[in-house]
Amino acid sequence: MDPDRVLEGLDPEQLEAARALRGPVCILAGAGTGKTRAITHRIAHAVASGVVAEQQVLAVTFTTRAAGEMRGRLRALGAPRVQARTFHAAALRQLSFFWPQAVGGPQPTLIDSKIQVVARAAHGCGVDADRTGLRDLASEIEWAKVTQIRPADYEKAVAKAGRTPPMQAGEVARVFEGYEEIRRERNLLDFESMLELTAAMLLERPEIAERVRSQYRYFVVDEFQDVNPLQKLLLDAWLGDRDDLCVVGDPSQTIYSFAGATPAYLTRFADAYPHATVVRLVRDYRSTPQVVRVANEVLRRARPAAGGAEAGLELVAQRPDGPDPSYTEYDDEPAEATSVARRIAALIETGTPAREIAVLFRTNSQSAAYEQALADAGIPFTVRGATRFFERPEIKQAVHTLRGARQGGGSDPIVGTVRHLLAPLGLTATAPEGRQARERWESLAALAQLADDIAVERHRGECGLGAAGAADRPQNAPLGGNCACGRPYTATLDDFAEELDARVATEHAPEMEGVTLASLHAAKGLEWDAVFLVGLTEGMMPIIYAETDEQVEEERRLFYVGVTRAREYLSASWSLARSPGGRKTRKPSRFLDGLRPASPSLAAGRRERSRSAKTVRCRICGNTLTEAAERKLARCLTCPADYDEELLERLREWRKATAAAQKVPAYVVFTDATLQAVA
Ligand code: ATP
Ligand code: MG
Repeated sequence: MDPDRVLEGLDPEQLEAARALRGPVCILAGAGTGKTRAITHRIAHAVASGVVAEQQVLAVTFTTRAAGEMRGRLRALGAPRVQARTFHAAALRQLSFFWPQAVGGPQPTLIDSKIQVVARAAHGCGVDADRTGLRDLASEIEWAKVTQIRPADYEKAVAKAGRTPPMQAGEVARVFEGYEEIRRERNLLDFESMLELTAAMLLERPEIAERVRSQYRYFVVDEFQDVNPLQKLLLDAWLGDRDDLCVVGDPSQTIYSFAGATPAYLTRFADAYPHATVVRLVRDYRSTPQVVRVANEVLRRARPAAGGAEAGLELVAQRPDGPDPSYTEYDDEPAEATSVARRIAALIETGTPAREIAVLFRTNSQSAAYEQALADAGIPFTVRGATRFFERPEIKQAVHTLRGARQGGGSDPIVGTVRHLLAPLGLTATAPEGRQARERWESLAALAQLADDIAVERHRGECGLGAAGAADRPQNAPLGGNCACGRPYTATLDDFAEELDARVATEHAPEMEGVTLASLHAAKGLEWDAVFLVGLTEGMMPIIYAETDEQVEEERRLFYVGVTRAREYLSASWSLARSPGGRKTRKPSRFLDGLRPASPSLAAGRRERSRSAKTVRCRICGNTLTEAAERKLARCLTCPADYDEELLERLREWRKATAAAQKVPAYVVFTDATLQAVA
């Protein structure tokens, strides 16, 4: 591809970063400013200009989904063979490859349940811990390992760091030691030892280091604010004495310092590499001005992360106006989940694809209510951070079946064949009832969809059309369809199996259809048209065990990450009780203070816009309606759908009276309590 064409669509600062082809580069910028986009184009530009070969690039991202997205973007930019991986995937690959030479003997296996090993270790040294205690111990061991602390040094190290251990430091140290012993005896790897061993292999075996370093010459690390000392050690081992390293990050999105990460590597990058090109971006391309305003409000209240050095730069919105964010209080959790599901159904009904909608929560335990509500509403969804796609039992079984069929004569066209082969595993024509059966069905369906993509891409390659964009990809049952060249799409089972092998190796899972349910941590780096931040109460956000100021600030950054995932619709909600009829003891999150409608800053923004001519307002909450779909419905899509006219009239009256009495702008949040009072 033409090296200059690859740079199309970048702004001047992004261009500066993308054109700095050699040497250390650091992009320091807020959420949605196009950091990931800039580095992806930079890689494609370097490849197209012949500065580096595709296979010599190692791009490191934080989640497998982010890695998959980067590969997708690189493929579209003509660099399909660049390796974009998580630290762990990259390390595991090198470790497995060099294991016979470096260590020999059977390869270690990945720990299935860390908690079980911790429990055994605790039991072995007479330390009593319940499930929460065990989880805390596991996190503490993880922290110690990423911080490079050995069991024997643990007690001294926590005292020095002024850290409060989850139980007596001596007990933690004993469990930690026991844990490492069991791990070694059973030849088990945890994520930390995976990185540790890989780094050790490179540092202690010069011949292996040389081979790895001659393979990889060009390094890019996204989300660098959340790199921990162990990952940094590995990165340095990969680099050796070279400096072709480009790092990208946002100190305001540091959300893993609880686990030992530090933004200092990012903010002090220019000290470590005085000749580095440092670029700052402030234009926010992701979100509407309404969402950006909320993000800036959150930033304004935040204190810089320890080691973060500077306060976050204010984001400057680039996109046209969108709907106002909504803030809704519910009586109880099921009511919140049901209403969110209903609002999601309304969004889908008016044209937002389900995969462009996300429900984000602080802890995975909050997911169940939403899974239930979405299932009840018949809305497809996928849970992020659950078992990795290619690790799911049904997918392992499917891959096995498909490989077997390939050996039996894989030249059949995949038209229908894949679905036929997967039918006995549970891929029926329509999704079955029941959560487990449905989840199984959904992952098998995603795999079969993958077959469709491969058929299309192979074909487009053959007829010279190049990679298909999302818009070219036929939906659902494309295999009977014809390409723009007039011929039908074809590909064989062999093609499929080959591609499947490549995808398993790179953990490149197919995109699951449906609404995303994810924790805020898992949502980092990603974006959706509509984002529902749910369960925003004190105790959840900030989480109850965030006690020190520093811990609360990290929770605030997590909230910032959540807000900045939304392109258009942002909904914040919370409920006062856990279950219907329960005591309403919960309070809305302190992070909502000043953001909720009574806030003068938001009210000012609202007054400004309401002066513009021809505004159409939502008949429920009075928000300005911005999209054709909303205008047609005469209500904003974040408002509940099922109010009848009579109730609406009463709500309007009530709002007028309240607004007059409290001297607030003429709109309010409708809570269940309001409804009860009015109805
Ligand atoms: P985060 O901090 O959340 O990881 P980011 O800085 O990496 O965000 P990107 O994901 O690269 O941001 O970009 C955010 C969105 O803005 C993407 O949809 C991207 O395609 C779009 N975008 C980025 N730069 C531009 C640009 N110059 N012109 C138009 N759209 C852009
Ligand atoms: Mg990014």
